[in-house]
Amino acid sequence: MINVRPYRGEDKALWDSFVRDSKNGTFLLERDFMEYHRDRFTDCSLMVWDDGKLIALLPANWEEATHTVWSHQGLTYGGLVMSNATTTRQAVDALAAIAHYCQDTMGARTLIYKAIPYIYSTQPSQEDLYALSRLNARKKWCLASTAVKTGSPLRMRTLRQRCVKKALEADCYVERVGDGDTERLREYWHMLENVLHTRHNLNPVHSVEEILLLMERFPANIRLYDVRRGERMVAGCIVFETTRVAHVQYIAAGEEGRACGALDLLFKHLISERYKGMAYLDFGVSTEDRGRTLNEGLIFQKEGFGGRTVCYDTYEVNLTAATAQQPTERIAYLSLARLNSRHQPELGERMARVAEDGWYLLGEWNKHFSREWATRCKRNCCVNCGNGLDALTLTLRAAKKIRGWKEGDDVIVPANTYIATILAVVRAGLHPVLCEPDEASALMTPEGAAACLTERTVALLPVHLYGRRCRMKGFRRLADERGFFLMDDCAQAHGIDDGRKCDIILPESDANCWSFYPGKNLGALGDAGAVTTDDALLARTIEEMANYGQARKYVNVHPGCNSRMDEMQAAALLLKLPVLEEENRKRREIALRYIEGIRNPEVKLPCKAEGAGESVWHIFPLRSKERDRLQLHLKDCGVETMIHYPIAPHRQEAMKGIAEGVFPVTDRWADEELSLPIAPYLTDEEAERVIKAVNSFEVKNEE
Ligand SMILES: *Cc1c(COP(=O)(O)O)cnc(C)c1O
Repeated sequence: MINVRPYRGEDKALWDSFVRDSKNGTFLLERDFMEYHRDRFTDCSLMVWDDGKLIALLPANWEEATHTVWSHQGLTYGGLVMSNATTTRQAVDALAAIAHYCQDTMGARTLIYKAIPYIYSTQPSQEDLYALSRLNARKKWCLASTAVKTGSPLRMRTLRQRCVKKALEADCYVERVGDGDTERLREYWHMLENVLHTRHNLNPVHSVEEILLLMERFPANIRLYDVRRGERMVAGCIVFETTRVAHVQYIAAGEEGRACGALDLLFKHLISERYKGMAYLDFGVSTEDRGRTLNEGLIFQKEGFGGRTVCYDTYEVNLTAATAQQPTERIAYLSLARLNSRHQPELGERMARVAEDGWYLLGEWNKHFSREWATRCKRNCCVNCGNGLDALTLTLRAAKKIRGWKEGDDVIVPANTYIATILAVVRAGLHPVLCEPDEASALMTPEGAAACLTERTVALLPVHLYGRRCRMKGFRRLADERGFFLMDDCAQAHGIDDGRKCDIILPESDANCWSFYPGKNLGALGDAGAVTTDDALLARTIEEMANYGQARKYVNVHPGCNSRMDEMQAAALLLKLPVLEEENRKRREIALRYIEGIRNPEVKLPCKAEGAGESVWHIFPLRSKERDRLQLHLKDCGVETMIHYPIAPHRQEAMKGIAEGVFPVTDRWADEELSLPIAPYLTDEEAERVIKAVNSFEVKNEE
């Protein structure tokens, strides 16, 4: 994930080594050089990381008065500094992340970005231009410079050759001024100031003291050349030497120098002698002062030496608009507030009514809901309880008692389920036997269960994982053949039918166990659960066990527990029940939209449901070998996802010695599963954004 933070003093060594190894940095961007500008500019340089690896630097200054970040002022260079390993995608993302950072964290409104051509094309780098276009940047100033490729320069024009000859005939000669010769530098600066002032009404950006300081600090990088005629200095320039480019700056010639071709002699000397081994000679910016042409004559003169015009355009990014353009609203994996808001104000009124009525447990709301839920599930009985885990546990305990199972008898459960399924078996004093699921559907199959049977098997406990219906007829057959108890964990499957749309809901098992945890397809405002069954004895036993094991008040027949649904939850569930079918339909629509829209070779879609009713899409499970990176990518796109479930039960510490084994299919699901948001309130636009985000995921080549 791309991460931006400001440069701090302790990063100095890292910064400098990154600049030295970068593909476009020069010593001008090393900290010593930058910090020499400290008095003039407020440094706000940024460092960009991708998954903990430094990928780019932005040398930058902060202008308080205009809330502006400048990528170059006073740094004599600009743009992102990138390593050779930085990919185009990273560079583009880095600039976008910088734009966000400047706005969100620094409160900046504008980013001025000088796009630098890489060594040394005539255009700024494609990464810069692409990143800038994505941020809707406007070109602010066109800055032109001239670069000469020293190894194979274009032909020198005859006019220039004549001028060089003229300079030589006038006894001009070029000298490299010795390091520390402050007198000569002062002399040159005086001439430069004169020329700039009389011809352009400008002052040099640097004072002579600053140049002296720089030369002292960087003796290996900064040189003064002058052209002399006898004792007189008639022209000169300052050269900043970097590894591959010599930057020729502050070029000036006095009246006499101009008359006798002194600059031509100087340029010829630099190009064909002094910097012959250097890749490029950059003749500084000829359009200075925010794009105004400084010295037209000089441009033509440089071109006469085989120079090419290089563009150093400067762009302006309006941060407020650029970031507003990005998807602003994060899509939460599931917002319960948003999910339940459709039931307001009734929901609040109902809660208030329960509070006022003063009857909070095992009351009319509970009775009403259990009648409704039994009807909806086409069952004779529904027993409410505290939560889904208790629904499972109590069912097993009741069946154990009724059927006379022994302590530690085996119950077949899928190896890939939420841990509650397995915990329930353990809590009931039984032994979970884990069964590998089917690779494609992630569900336990009757064949899989048959392969796991033991001498002590007493029950089968399939889970309709992700809202997808298990093959219950097969389980029923197996249970009947062997006399097993068959119950199903329906915590993720509210409203599921058998795929033939005949409204028969999970009729095959002996008991369905439900959770109304808030995030389920039918969720309460807290914990709640239930068991539906046609077995009246089972239902009564569960009911007694859930209420301290009492058959009548103060007559305890089982060592029971306390697991009751409270009236608030029953009242909320009753209000929400009528929209369950509609919400499941909406989930299915979103799932189909995802299945139609997602096209990415890195992503495996959940296998298509055979019949329309095969899944109620509690979860939309993708699979990807690059799951973790996909999740980070989606997060960057503003899409929150979840993993169901990141650690398989047999790998949990809590299951040591209880439920262990080798389950490669389960492991693969744990390693590759990623759940997309699929809440029924999602709008079409949001679903499209999710699809776009998934489709834009690319695996980066790591070389
Ligand atoms: C949610 C869930 C449970 C547990 O339900 P609670 O009400 O949280 O106890 C059990 N099994 C599965 C498959 C679940 O998703």
